Amino acid sequence: PTALIWLRDDLRLDDHPAFRAAFEAGYLPLPVYVHAPEEEGAWAAGAASNAWRARSLAALDGELRARGSRLTVRRGPSLAALETLAAQTQAEAVFWTRRYTPAGETCDAAVKRALRARGLRAESFDGALQVEPWNVATRGGDPYRVFTPFWKAAQAAWRARSPWHAPARWPPPPPEPDAGSLAGLGLAPRRPWDAGFWNHWVAGERGARAALRRFVEQALARYADARDRPDLAGTARLSPHLRFGEIAPWRVAAEVEAARTGANARHVDAFLRQLGWREFAYHLLHHFPHTVDRNLDPRFDAFDWAAPEAGLLEAWRHGRTGVPIVDAGMRELWHTGWMHNRVRMIVASYLCKHLRMHWLEGARWFWDTLVDADLANNTLGWQWVAGTGADAAPYFRIFNPATQAAKFDPQGEYVARWLPELAPLPVPLRFAPWTDPARLRRVAPAYPSRPLVGLAEGRQAALDAFRRLAARV
Ligand code: FAD
Repeated sequence: PTALIWLRDDLRLDDHPAFRAAFEAGYLPLPVYVHAPEEEGAWAAGAASNAWRARSLAALDGELRARGSRLTVRRGPSLAALETLAAQTQAEAVFWTRRYTPAGETCDAAVKRALRARGLRAESFDGALQVEPWNVATRGGDPYRVFTPFWKAAQAAWRARSPWHAPARWPPPPPEPDAGSLAGLGLAPRRPWDAGFWNHWVAGERGARAALRRFVEQALARYADARDRPDLAGTARLSPHLRFGEIAPWRVAAEVEAARTGANARHVDAFLRQLGWREFAYHLLHHFPHTVDRNLDPRFDAFDWAAPEAGLLEAWRHGRTGVPIVDAGMRELWHTGWMHNRVRMIVASYLCKHLRMHWLEGARWFWDTLVDADLANNTLGWQWVAGTGADAAPYFRIFNPATQAAKFDPQGEYVARWLPELAPLPVPLRFAPWTDPARLRRVAPAYPSRPLVGLAEGRQAALDAFRRLAARV
């Protein structure tokens, strides 16, 4: 008998609990992707994610075909597509990997009820996280809001998962119904601004494994020191692969753990802790689903954000703020679909504090342009920087972007890479070119002569707004 394997954010074959369960129960697995963005509500995948997904699905189809199977694709609604396919293939079961986004949880629960009502065996599996959000709780039984105690408890809850390798030969799919057309799903961006992304990324399970291997061989040994340096290749660049489930997080953890030596223990621990932030983000998203568009800390509901101003927002989005480290980050994002974590914090801080724009303005832009756009991590990241979230940086701690740049991009190489027009400037000026306006005009006449909002005045205005809030709540 056939089991449909309903794939969404779990685009891999190895370490896939739903595939594994199907094989172990003697089913003939039929992998299916149903494109149904309307079921994601306000957070349907953005353009960069869709571009990645198109490639990841094609890679998955290639892997399946190499094993004698193939991917079947359909348009939503999901339930109707699954019911039709189940009827056409006389499937007895539908298996899938659980999701934790508010819209995903609602949709999957409704699909499960409806399929069961039709007599199908509908089952979901734990395949996206190391620890599901409800499997860790404080002693009082509440969700965690602070990372360190969460991490202590979650680490203990991680089960050792046995690796699972997908079989080399898969049963052939039935000749009917047809596989459907990936190209017909409309995932490709209308404007091919993503063309350059693919010089930096290989979507799919093989790309994910290669990235992990490269990290373990080349960067793990200095991770704790280099992870904050955007000028170095100091991090794993696994985020889009994890976002699309191209590799299991427990496989990443196990391979990094297996590389532990006396000399690199500090770096292994730092990396596993960082992976733990992803688990924490999902814990928060599941338990506080309203935080996708509302402050976790309700005191901030009364905060005096500046009115969204199209000109300011456009300048921020496209890297024309006049603050080089901010502009470099926004250009890295535009050209590669990714931005270094330290720079994400700097650009987000400039937006939420110096420009005093609501964090959602930034979260939405990241949502559309990041290949790793992930509702849990993005919400956590923005609320952390804005000071409105769990275990967040306090609002009054305001990054000075020029100082941050000098500290984390000491030779100014990251700035020069993304803003080559500023490369002729000596290092301290690369971080604050407005301090020598004549030279800036000579070297880079097209670059803004002053920041959109000056660093001292933006900081003061943000602190004043925070004081007004503190006086009110
Ligand atoms: P590494 O340092 O190699 O870390 C390995 C993995 O651990 C990452 O791939 C990621 O899955 C996880 N991880 C690391 N740091 C964090 C973190 N701070 N929070 C949650 N998980 C983490 N990450 C996303 O995956 N998607 C997002 O949409 C996203 N939006 C963000 C928005 C803001 C404002 C900020 C400050 C951070 C955001 N992050 C997001 C977190 C972080 O920047 C990225 O996960 C990281 O840069 C990915 O690069 P890497 O794989 O090389 O990271």
